[in-house]
Amino acid sequence: MKTAKMLDSEPPDLGVPLKLHVPSISISQLKPPSEPNNSVVRQVRSQFKVSHKSEEFRRQFYPSSTTEEWNNWRWQNRNRVRTLVDLQRMITLADDEAAAIARHTGALPVGITPYYASLLDPLDANQAMRKTVVPVLGEYEISRGENEDPLGEDGHSPVPGLVHRYPDRVLLLVTNFCSVYCRYCTRARMVGSAGERSVKKADIELALNYIEQTPVIRDVLISGGDPLSLDDDRLDYILGRLRKIKHVEFIRIGSKQPVVQPMRITPELRKVLKRHKPVWMSLHFTHPDELTPEVEEACGRLADAGIPLGSQTVLLKGVNDDLDTMKKLMHGLLKIRVKPYYLYQADPISGSGHFRTPVSTGVELIRGLRGHTSGYAVPTFVVDAPNGGGKIPISPDYVVGYENGDLLLKSFDGGTYRYPDLGHSLESTSTLDLTKRGVS
Ligand code: SF4
Repeated sequence: MKTAKMLDSEPPDLGVPLKLHVPSISISQLKPPSEPNNSVVRQVRSQFKVSHKSEEFRRQFYPSSTTEEWNNWRWQNRNRVRTLVDLQRMITLADDEAAAIARHTGALPVGITPYYASLLDPLDANQAMRKTVVPVLGEYEISRGENEDPLGEDGHSPVPGLVHRYPDRVLLLVTNFCSVYCRYCTRARMVGSAGERSVKKADIELALNYIEQTPVIRDVLISGGDPLSLDDDRLDYILGRLRKIKHVEFIRIGSKQPVVQPMRITPELRKVLKRHKPVWMSLHFTHPDELTPEVEEACGRLADAGIPLGSQTVLLKGVNDDLDTMKKLMHGLLKIRVKPYYLYQADPISGSGHFRTPVSTGVELIRGLRGHTSGYAVPTFVVDAPNGGGKIPISPDYVVGYENGDLLLKSFDGGTYRYPDLGHSLESTSTLDLTKRGVS
């Protein structure tokens, strides 16, 4: 039986300073490996895949490590890239990047797993994935309307670590730790701050008690930080407590771990998740280059365990704001059994201006997907309204208006079609103003 005591047991090896094993090589030698990105060199104990690209990287920058260590998520945490010096050994930093890292203090530090670092282009500061994890000076420029807590989460927090914004749903924040820190993180104000695992056992207990005592709550989203960065026992305890609460019908975990640290999806973790099923997962994907053999393996393990998988993607300027990239990502997700779920307009957190596109970009991306590809590949584009307004879906307007009781609709390829809408009065145009839409 699990007890609250388990919440006291911090993984002993987190937060240990990076120990890089770097051979003496010049920057000019830092060329991307010539092997194709998606080929697999070997499978190791528990059959986890290692791509050629990651294997080359391991040999180059962690030569004294073994493939087994590389495939150990705790080893990945211990050896995260955390400092300017660490990163400079692996990639040629642009002046902008180096200055931003040197200037950084406080929350949202640099944190990149060796696995994810192996996917970064060592020479191209404009590589999409690199932009998402390497800071630039734009982070220090505050644009109109930006603030630290744009969603107003702190104002909807009845107890620490719990956001109760919608009547029947809560957000349970169980850790401040992420193995990789995304530079556009909505919770930049808190993740990685004040000692990475600063969410206290007592706070989690308070939050669980609140859920227990609030019968209207039927849906709990476990988030953070990244909940899958917790060890299995702690996760088991939290899921077990929630599962015992009769009015909690729906449990979800939001995570980027399968993407940035796919080796976290161990057989032991699968057992924990299966024990408390049904548990759903929202996985955070950003770019098709994240869809490596390792990530395919991780998602396959979760899907085989019966865990429904949906994706969440933040729309980011210069990263995934063009149709080809977005379509490739959505198609790739379906191939690994992840249903594209939400495409988010980037939240106006402080210093996010360099990441944020106009909202119209998201609308046009959806227009380019809807009807042009499988419906399963089309996510819902949402703006999470500042100050607690919640997710508001925005889609291209396919409705032209009413004419003689018929609903006039625009198809994905521009044609106009009539639907005989029996429920609509022949005379009334009350819900849709035809004249404004140029229909007479
Ligand atoms: S994984 Fe999620 S919580 Fe962690 S830094 Fe990225 S966006 Fe923020």
